Amino acid sequence: MVALTEFAGSADRYQAIIDGKPVEAASGARLDMVAPSDGRAFASIPRCGAEDVDRAIKAAKRAFEDGPWATMAPADRGRILMKLSGLIAEHHEELSELDARDVGKSIKQARGDVTVLSRYYEFYAGAADKTGGETIPLPGGFTAMTFREPHGVVGAILPWNSPTQMLGRTSAPALAMGNTMVVKPAEDACLSAIRIAELALEAGLPPGVLNIVTGLGEEAGAALAAHPEVNFITFTGSPEVGTIIQKLAAENHVAVTLELGGKSPQIVFADADLDTALPIITSAITVNSGQTCVAGSRLLVERAAWDRVVAAFAERFNRLVTGPHSGDYDFGALINAKQRDRVKGFISRAKADGVGVLAEGKVAGDAEGSGFYVPAVLFGPVPVDHALAKQEVFGPCLSAIPFDDEADAIRLANDTEFGLAAGIWTSDIGRAMRMARKIRSGQVYINGYGAGGGVELPFGGFKNSGHGREKGLEALKEFSATKTVVINHG
Ligand code: NAD
Repeated sequence: MVALTEFAGSADRYQAIIDGKPVEAASGARLDMVAPSDGRAFASIPRCGAEDVDRAIKAAKRAFEDGPWATMAPADRGRILMKLSGLIAEHHEELSELDARDVGKSIKQARGDVTVLSRYYEFYAGAADKTGGETIPLPGGFTAMTFREPHGVVGAILPWNSPTQMLGRTSAPALAMGNTMVVKPAEDACLSAIRIAELALEAGLPPGVLNIVTGLGEEAGAALAAHPEVNFITFTGSPEVGTIIQKLAAENHVAVTLELGGKSPQIVFADADLDTALPIITSAITVNSGQTCVAGSRLLVERAAWDRVVAAFAERFNRLVTGPHSGDYDFGALINAKQRDRVKGFISRAKADGVGVLAEGKVAGDAEGSGFYVPAVLFGPVPVDHALAKQEVFGPCLSAIPFDDEADAIRLANDTEFGLAAGIWTSDIGRAMRMARKIRSGQVYINGYGAGGGVELPFGGFKNSGHGREKGLEALKEFSATKTVVINHG
């Protein structure tokens, strides 16, 4: 196995991976990696720029055009991806610890993420040789058929909140379809991507098929999005950067999937099973410190049950404790000082605006004074036009809002610019289904929220939550293009 890290004093010096080799940035520049749990630099990465991105894209293009990957039997591609899934399982604890430290997320959550990562490669390994085209009936002496062809070089620009899951979600289906890739992970959390690429080489992925270019968004990310030899782009991140990426890609007429933010509602009717709903809804806004695109950040409560429901949530929120990733806390730190200050800004502005605080959790004693911690806060009733009800906070803040009836709940659920996910909690399945069809979001859960990692389930946004679908078998369509072949045989 290639050792991709070297030690310099107490800091790990990670390297980018281009054409199967660990490399420095052409400029030699580096960026510090800061651990959110204590605010200290513990590693560094190459600060890659346009020259490095170009080198990676050329390697990916060579691997696509000349290498065996795109043309090998799909079952053989599947075997390599399955081997990678197994290697990830073998290195489960190592990857979890790396990610937890890098992102500040609790080790429990990081372990869950790595399990899902392994499952992504398993799922798409199995799908690699089961994805074909179709025949199309034509009159006379024609036979027409379609093939699913890889795009070529896929560029992936990823966020920091769940680096392992995001890498699996994009690379597993893209590679299964025979594409090659250049991945630009987030500058705040990219160490697991480097390690996974190393494991991919060990699994037998040919050099150049999966390249990892580390660096800043406006440098390496922008160079990747603008490069004329990239054939398809997948971006997961903020709506603002999504717009930049789509504009850059448009210059080259390259298709883009955008997986952006959310302001997902949890809709609780008076007849809901509160004992089931309470821990799941709480987890959906505190997991990963609320830094998930599908965070259920609005708690819509039927007015008839308001007092009972918010009292139960307040009791729960008052007991929530945030602390270092290695401890047994409810959730960990936020990713960096900027994100912490942004979330604290939402909280202090809401308090200054007179929005009621129903409950507030705590920061663990051993975390005070270090790291980027924000305790969980339950606000309510939140005015429907307040920033807390409209904007993505990306932190552990739950906004409770009352509603009168089914129609009111649907109106409120749809009353944001986003449409990523929704939870409906009721024992009336007819009502749940009526609502599921009327809520404008990519996923709707009834009496639950999430389904394991949801690897099998198509995922993506309506409205400003983005476009395109990843996960499930739909991702295989996204990461391939249809080619039609017609025979005139008379
Ligand atoms: P971000 O948009 O700041 O960064 C995402 C990626 O884009 C990073 O790799 C960054 O380096 C890169 N980037 C930044 N500026 C760039 C530029 N000018 N050109 C090219 N690349 C650039 O997002 P973030 O802060 O890392 O993540 C938080 C956001 O991501 C939230 O809005 C969240 O909802 C969203 N998110 C969505 C999903 C989803 O599946 N829908 C999943 C996770 C996160």
